[in-house]
Amino acid sequence: MNPIIISGFKAYDLRGRIPSELNEDVAYRIGRAYAEFVTPKKVIVGRDIRLSSEELAKALEQGLLDSGVDVYDIGLCGTEVVYFATFAKQMDGGIMVTASHNPPDYNGMKFVREGSRPISGDNGLQDIRAIAEAGKFTAPAKVGERYAMDIMPEYIDHLLSYVDRATLKPLEPFLPFQFIKVHHEPDGTFPHGVPNPMLLENHRAPVEALRKHTADCAISWDGDYDRCFLFDEHGGFIEGYYIVGLLASMFLKRFPGGRIVHDPRLTWNTLDIVADGGGEAVQSKSGHAFIKQVMREVDGVYGGEMSAHHYFRDFAYGDAADERDRQEPVAAGGGANEGVPDQRRDQPARAGCQVHDCRGAREIPASGPERGLHGRRQRRVRPVAIQPALVEYRTADPAQRREPGRRGADA
Ligand SMILES: [Zn+2]
Repeated sequence: MNPIIISGFKAYDLRGRIPSELNEDVAYRIGRAYAEFVTPKKVIVGRDIRLSSEELAKALEQGLLDSGVDVYDIGLCGTEVVYFATFAKQMDGGIMVTASHNPPDYNGMKFVREGSRPISGDNGLQDIRAIAEAGKFTAPAKVGERYAMDIMPEYIDHLLSYVDRATLKPLEPFLPFQFIKVHHEPDGTFPHGVPNPMLLENHRAPVEALRKHTADCAISWDGDYDRCFLFDEHGGFIEGYYIVGLLASMFLKRFPGGRIVHDPRLTWNTLDIVADGGGEAVQSKSGHAFIKQVMREVDGVYGGEMSAHHYFRDFAYGDAADERDRQEPVAAGGGANEGVPDQRRDQPARAGCQVHDCRGAREIPASGPERGLHGRRQRRVRPVAIQPALVEYRTADPAQRREPGRRGADA
């Protein structure tokens, strides 16, 4: 094939505009290049609801098949399902066709290899790009086979292994909650807007439903449901930043002295809670590939990002061998609520995180990252790796925080 330029490769995945940056030709080449670089025998392919995802997945699969790779297509799914299928079925790799929460004219891919180890710019993404661009592929001894795989029952079983079902009455149908579903039907035209729960206009629907039904909390997912955001019982949005601290405190109860990996954007709350819980906080670059890498290096029990990505040692952020440390299921009965000291509960409303479209962000410097104190608050402005925007991060005013012993301002 002719050499071409592929511009969509980012630090830890591929995202590009359809069709100028990502199209069937590019997807086919990436399938061939992935096969050339990873030399897998069996690969999982999944896709999100975007209108372009099915065609791109088909072209990607053709590239893999023409390279002699057997393809196991798990169809429409979340990104984590591809990761799960890859490690649970002992595949040699997995590729998810998704652009997560980007606008509808975007699509992309996330890549892992055996054990669901991420392939990032540091460990192969650039090689795959170079091979795909050059378009010189080795002919295989024979072409691969394509299989359709239904992984969902096994995936649900795995997720349910995290909770103690013996104490729960099945209702929904597995957990004792009544879910009030909002915008629940998959629709690749995004009739309710871009599936990014961080956008303020996307808060209205879950909060209205929460108030109408006097629900206990609301949960909002992004386009490939690898991120979720929570609203409290009053409809207050809880920044992903604070969920990192919440989950860290729960994991430290189970694994005293454990290591918690976090991203470098907002750190105060996480550092406080990890110190209070007797754990060790370890900072990593943002992005799933980097966080998972650091978790493996330091044997982290849990890793979290303020972008609401969460990583668990039991879920393939590491080797399948990590199953040896299988954690105890969470008992029913609101353990998470108890894990948040009351004095922290009012903080989320006062923290700020604003997404600025690049083109309209006059008040924000065009180049980043800017970091440091803003008044008494910790404030950082950084370009976003995964969408065309700048984000300003601000913590709550530390003067209003009541708990003693807070640690240093920056990290
Ligand atoms: Zn996502």
